[in-house]
Amino acid sequence: MNKITNHMPTAELQRLDAAHHLHPFTDHGALREKGVRVITGAEGVWLKDSEGHRILDGMAGLWCVNVGYGRDELAEAAYRQMKELPYYNTFFQTTHVPAIALSAKIAELAPGHLNHVFFASSGSEANDTNIRLVRHYWAQKGQPERQVIVARKNGYHGSSMGSASLGGMAAMHSQGGLPIPGIHHIDQPYWWGEGGEMSPEEFGIARARQLEEAIQRIGPDKVGAFIAEPVQGAGGVIVPPESYWPEIRRIVKEYGILLIADEVICGFGRTGEWFGSQGYGIEPDIMTIAKGLSSGYQPIGGSIVSDEVAETIAKDEFFHGYTYSGHPVACAVALENLRILEEEKIVERVRETTAPYLKKKWESLADHPLVGEATIRGMMASIALTPDKASRAKFASDPGTVGLICRERSFANDLVMRHVGDRMVISPPLVISQAEIDTLIERARIALDEAM
Ligand code: PLP
Repeated sequence: MNKITNHMPTAELQRLDAAHHLHPFTDHGALREKGVRVITGAEGVWLKDSEGHRILDGMAGLWCVNVGYGRDELAEAAYRQMKELPYYNTFFQTTHVPAIALSAKIAELAPGHLNHVFFASSGSEANDTNIRLVRHYWAQKGQPERQVIVARKNGYHGSSMGSASLGGMAAMHSQGGLPIPGIHHIDQPYWWGEGGEMSPEEFGIARARQLEEAIQRIGPDKVGAFIAEPVQGAGGVIVPPESYWPEIRRIVKEYGILLIADEVICGFGRTGEWFGSQGYGIEPDIMTIAKGLSSGYQPIGGSIVSDEVAETIAKDEFFHGYTYSGHPVACAVALENLRILEEEKIVERVRETTAPYLKKKWESLADHPLVGEATIRGMMASIALTPDKASRAKFASDPGTVGLICRERSFANDLVMRHVGDRMVISPPLVISQAEIDTLIERARIALDEAM
């Protein structure tokens, strides 16, 4: 077989891809019919495909390329580390400098008593860690029956058996015999779609109180933790009403359950703070991190836990870990990525300049006939597509079709947006310029026009 390279004709690359490559989250029939776009390079916020198109990446890959593409410093950090120590584990009484340095840096950045990091290679693995960690924690506390973790419908926490069980996106998370035992779901704080006649504030409180109802129903002595994203990402960028998180905090404190903030998307600047929790005054016992930790340049994730959780679980061996927990190359790249975020003041720039500019432009889409709401938190934003703004109606037949058309039209116009049902979402690299934001908005508007 000839060597397969970027320079091969697109049709040949597509043929080989269809013959051998199973894609995640993909309808392969539709993929073959419509053809697949071959991405060959990237710089800044721009992707390049095999036919020479420049595509504006409104999704930062999968919500992860926070510092943008083409950062030589990250490639050089990987190269240096591979030469020095490409791999060693952190099991069995060994450690290495990249894991020490990265865990110390994360502890410095993370709020409150979150000072200890358990590494994984992805958000899914980190959330699997969290399930076992919560149960191990309560066993050490002499309350092993506190097994239940409450999560939310339309939340996303990963694709492994454990993390997907925490997820609550109905169609996606019912495949494969999920959930595993001991996971309970409550409703999401999605006011525009589910709030009815209530004000956002009333609705936020009502949805938070479902946690209290669930704890009382299941039994306070059986519930170990509540997990949620500060702002739901993959579920459609659902920004909760301001009343939601304070009420969740009250309930979690009152019943003494652990709070897990899944910061896989919200972390590392996406919301204009280092962590999404900080903007809502959430004080988690455990945070899940991944994605923006390395800006996607290396697969790495982890669980940051409080002093109290770390001390408790250390009372007995925690029989858990991955070959690549604290992989030295991934740690070195993540550390360099955090240096870039800090030294270039990217988080401050997002908060003070980029996110306010994006907000103004994004909200201007609300005047489009298809748009019911345009909502945004930091650099993650969504619009709800509707046939009738006044009644906040959903498209009756085949929900998701208009969203899919809109996504396809944006892609045809060289903009990556995603759709979740009939919500369009964006999450561009944090380094996007104002001129690039203008281009993003222009192309999004064209896609909306073409989807009508
Ligand atoms: N948690 C959240 C909030 C996510 O958005 C994701 C992925 O999108 C995950 C966990 C899973 O992360 P990964 O795909 O790295 O396993």
